[in-house]
Amino acid sequence: MNPIRILIVEDEQLVADDLRETLEYLGYIVCDLVASGEEAIFKAEQLQPDLVLMDIRLEGEIDGIEASFEIQSRFHLPVVYLTANADRVTLERAKASHPFGYILKPFDERILGTTIEIAISRHQAEIEVKKALFAAKNNQEIAESQNQKTSQNLYITVHEFRNPLTTIKLSAEMLKAYGDQMSEQRKQNHINRIESATDSLNNLLENILTLGRSESQNLVFNPKPIDIVTFCEEIVESLQISVKEQYKINFSVDGNSRIACLDEQLMWHLLNNLLANAIKYSPVGSKVFLKLIWAENSLCFQVTDEGIGIPPESQSHLFEPFQRATNVGSIPGTGLGLAIVKRSTELHGGTIYFDSALGKGTTFTVKLPWKLDTLPV
Ligand code: ATP
Ligand code: MG
Repeated sequence: MNPIRILIVEDEQLVADDLRETLEYLGYIVCDLVASGEEAIFKAEQLQPDLVLMDIRLEGEIDGIEASFEIQSRFHLPVVYLTANADRVTLERAKASHPFGYILKPFDERILGTTIEIAISRHQAEIEVKKALFAAKNNQEIAESQNQKTSQNLYITVHEFRNPLTTIKLSAEMLKAYGDQMSEQRKQNHINRIESATDSLNNLLENILTLGRSESQNLVFNPKPIDIVTFCEEIVESLQISVKEQYKINFSVDGNSRIACLDEQLMWHLLNNLLANAIKYSPVGSKVFLKLIWAENSLCFQVTDEGIGIPPESQSHLFEPFQRATNVGSIPGTGLGLAIVKRSTELHGGTIYFDSALGKGTTFTVKLPWKLDTLPV
């Protein structure tokens, strides 16, 4: 431990010299010696001693008690009074300034040493308590903001459940009440609405469960050789059926291979979420592209759209759960899809990034190792 540095405030030169000698003999460093309250404040700020040894009656405008108030409140340094004033009034004033000790002159060398040691350790303890209180307050704030985030996320999820449930309820009620008077076409429209609302509820549940498994480290990585070209064709085909003529999904392959060692379940989440986003965030009538590129050590999936794009200020957090860009407007979503895509990519030992131009479109690129010997263990 570094030697303790003490500032002496004493206007009687002889006493001051005696003090300095005693303190140095006891192993302390006297960093300065001043005679007035004003100088004491100035030096305390400048030198930041470990302790101030303060006489009460001093030269100058202010006495030791006033100087001590200032030093303790502004610089949080411990002050010990060393004084010949033992009258009641002075003692009461001194007490009110919360000193770390009070020694009467003529001082006893041992009492001086013990008082300094106790003052320093009490001051240290107070600092520790303040730090602990500060940390506790910080932790409490963090916990409160996490609680707030959790309820916000819960609210988003509940909201996303409510929309399709309302659609199902309304269409079912319409069919029940007026079904026998409706044209076949209108009936079919209601049935289609129920089907697509059920699909989106299923997707939502699937996403929540997958993310939950991934957060509790229960999302397993189970790679096996699959025909990824056929796999992509099937996903594209089923999405094309669900979006009918509204969008055109284009699938192309660059390279001649077909078999890659991948986790089928994770790949399903990955491609479905990227393609679903490409469709959802694009105007009706536009095209969506899925491109598969075989490279020496990686298999690259590119999903490109001609949609709304992602504003620069929203880009950095999009892979975190429940994060949505500022330009989504009334397009429904919970902000879970990309978190699942990222987790699925990472489990394959791959990387993901995107390029986006606002109002023009976005391309998500996923690169995965595809040979058994390049997969993560
Ligand atoms: P869901 O949980 O139903 O997928 P979501 O689509 O809002 O909801 P993510 O798939 O995680 O959530 O996407 C997060 C956000 O990223 C979206 O809300 C949207 O703002 C932005 N985003 C993702 N893909 C695109 C895209 N192709 N074009 C524009 N914005 C996109
Ligand atoms: Mg999505």
